[in-house]
Amino acid sequence: MPPTPISTTVVDGLALANEIRKELSEAVGRHVAAGRRAPRLAVVLVGDDPASASYIKGKRRACERIGMDSSERTLPADASSERVLETVAELNGDDGVDGILVQLPLPGPLDANEITGAIDPAKDVDGLHPMNAGRLLLGEPCLTACTPLGIIEILRRFQVPLEGAEAVVIGRSNIVGKPVSLLLQRENATVHMCHSRTRDLREHCRSADVLVAAAGVPLLVKRDWVKPGAAVIDVGVSEIDGVLTGDVDTEGVRGVARIVTPHRRGVGPMTITMLLRNTLEAYEARAGAWAG
Ligand code: NAP
Repeated sequence: MPPTPISTTVVDGLALANEIRKELSEAVGRHVAAGRRAPRLAVVLVGDDPASASYIKGKRRACERIGMDSSERTLPADASSERVLETVAELNGDDGVDGILVQLPLPGPLDANEITGAIDPAKDVDGLHPMNAGRLLLGEPCLTACTPLGIIEILRRFQVPLEGAEAVVIGRSNIVGKPVSLLLQRENATVHMCHSRTRDLREHCRSADVLVAAAGVPLLVKRDWVKPGAAVIDVGVSEIDGVLTGDVDTEGVRGVARIVTPHRRGVGPMTITMLLRNTLEAYEARAGAWAG
């Protein structure tokens, strides 16, 4: 007898994000009603990359919708490292700024690690500063990268059991693969971090109760890579002939996975939501800066 198909929930990341944004908006409203200024996110954009400009627009709109302030500092594509570091230092010293985000990728010769490493760790809402990355590794409270936080939030809200679960993460980047592996481990999952040199990736994936695909390889994860009943999180975003595609064959895994996030309206809206949450957390941790 063929196995009974599993009913697959395709996660509506936007609906989930809106639920959380409502909670964040209420929290911001309580601060403002108590006579405090609203939290503020400052974004630094270097150059005029249209994709980056569009991401920033989305972040600004998301801030506005929950009553948070945001500001932008735009520098020319040929801005020197010193100029960018100066801007970051100004924002570090500005008591009215709670979160600082330098939009990546940076153009040409600029060193992203040097620049994100110059952000005050208390305002590092992207969680990329070595201090925050180190605290995450040590299991200490810290600001954590937004996409990994969004993934954990999806798993939590869909009540996916993590304790003792086999988790496979495809990708080992500093922004997704490594931090999400650490967060899953913190939840007591047994984590396998795979990458481009992993032998027999399919076999690893087939053992996963939780499978996070963050390779940026279109449709890498196919139906027969997925364990029946698994939670599958598609982080990848690639373009094929102008069409955005994820790392997972979402249609293919229907009837096998218990939940799957689609590449559109999946993890993406949760990433911005976690940026808002990090900004609120940074604001609340900087209690002395509220007045004014
Ligand atoms: P990245 O820095 O390019 O890292 C990709 C990782 O995947 C690397 O560790 C690489 O291995 C691994 N990999 C590449 N090809 C592979 C293969 N065939 N098999 C197994 N592993 C493979 O990318 P990233 O910044 O982590 O982002 C990953 C994807 O997520 C991208 O598509 C990105 O656009 C997307 N993303 C989406 C969001 C969102 O909010 N939706 C946020 C961030 C990123 P090696 O280390 O061996 O090279």
